[in-house]
Amino acid sequence: MKALVYDGPNKVSVQDVPDAKIERPSDAVVRITSTNICGSDLHMYEGRTDMEEGRVFGHENLGEVVEVGDAVEHVKVGDWVCLPFNVSCGYCKNCERGLTGACLAMNPGTAGAAYGFAGMGPFEGGQAELLRVPHADFNCLKLPEDAEAKQSDYVMLADIFPTGYHASEMACVSPGESVVIYGAGPVGLMAALSCFIRGASKVIVVDRFPDRLRLAQEIGAIAVDFSDEDAIEQVLGHTNGQGADKGCECVGYQAHDPQGAEQPNITMNNLVATVRATGIIGVVGVFVPEDPKAKDKLERKGQIAFDWGKFWSKGLRLGTGQANVKAYNRQLRELIHVGKAKPSWIVSHELPLEEAAEAYKRFDARDKGWTKVILKPAGLSRESRPRKSAAKATAGR
Ligand code: NAD
Ligand code: ZN
Repeated sequence: MKALVYDGPNKVSVQDVPDAKIERPSDAVVRITSTNICGSDLHMYEGRTDMEEGRVFGHENLGEVVEVGDAVEHVKVGDWVCLPFNVSCGYCKNCERGLTGACLAMNPGTAGAAYGFAGMGPFEGGQAELLRVPHADFNCLKLPEDAEAKQSDYVMLADIFPTGYHASEMACVSPGESVVIYGAGPVGLMAALSCFIRGASKVIVVDRFPDRLRLAQEIGAIAVDFSDEDAIEQVLGHTNGQGADKGCECVGYQAHDPQGAEQPNITMNNLVATVRATGIIGVVGVFVPEDPKAKDKLERKGQIAFDWGKFWSKGLRLGTGQANVKAYNRQLRELIHVGKAKPSWIVSHELPLEEAAEAYKRFDARDKGWTKVILKPAGLSRESRPRKSAAKATAGR
């Protein structure tokens, strides 16, 4: 089968690799029709992780089941399914509590496993014609009859829509509240959509790329361009000088200063400054335990200079970690099905798998207009088309 293979820093190529196949009786094999490039792929693409060369990327996957193992009972050949990026067992102490992002069984020795991911187990990714799905009955989210037609919406259920929702859940966003979100990448935009779904009265999104900020404005958020003027002053200006009720971090350790130089502590300290006393912060942007290639001395050891004193005296709280996709994907699927959420509004490109290497280059450079890329290993469907500015999302407002 054809698959997108990691060849070392800033190099990926589409190659022939052995077909994904049933390895255990509880597996399924899915023919992938939509698979996204994610900001998390870029940490690996840039060589900022210990991803092994030759591995297949891709953890945001959707397609049609083509084969099931003998022990699979619920999922059938022909079902359209979306696969959470977390590979989870369903029976460990964490999975039983719904914390599938920290499954203890699938990648022994650590908490959490994923497809095509550095340090998250041996599972190959789905930027390929076929994907092996372990524990298929647990890990497949079945999709309704509009699955094929709405796949550019449903594929967001594999990761970024639940991840954005997870940020809002960790921040306990409630109706009527104001929220500040750092990052208008796909995850930040999904966090903004999720906050509106939860009834936020005001959502402020901070970034420095106008095309991304425009997408935030399309669903009713206030855009703050931190390359124009200090982010902290602007956010305080929108929140009566007190700060937002809640905050979301959707950038991670490769955060930038206004000029574009990497500064890993900037978003966390900006959150401390712009969330009001007693507020809550949800951090889904990735921070890594070590980053040997970082310029910042602390960051090499996975540390940041954090405004702990201010955080403590404001009585702030925060939650962190990988999203537990299965905790939210059914509910969010229903919102897509009935037309109350349309997360594909951020999609800028739907491309054949053969064009993946160029797509990685452009998405990694945050080139203008490259806001979210869906790769189509089974070819472009009738619904896929080059998009400029996609239709508006329904924010459930
Ligand atoms: P992305 O790189 O496309 O977007 C990040 C955005 O942050 C960019 O638009 C960038 O301009 C902006 N940014 C950089 N510095 C900033 C600053 N100082 N203030 C405000 N904005 C700033 O990535 P993405 O796909 O949106 O993912 C965002 C993060 O979420 C990544 O770290 C990714 O790995 C992580 N992630 C986490 C989970 C999880 O389960 N926790 C799942 C998916 C992605
Ligand atoms: Zn992802």
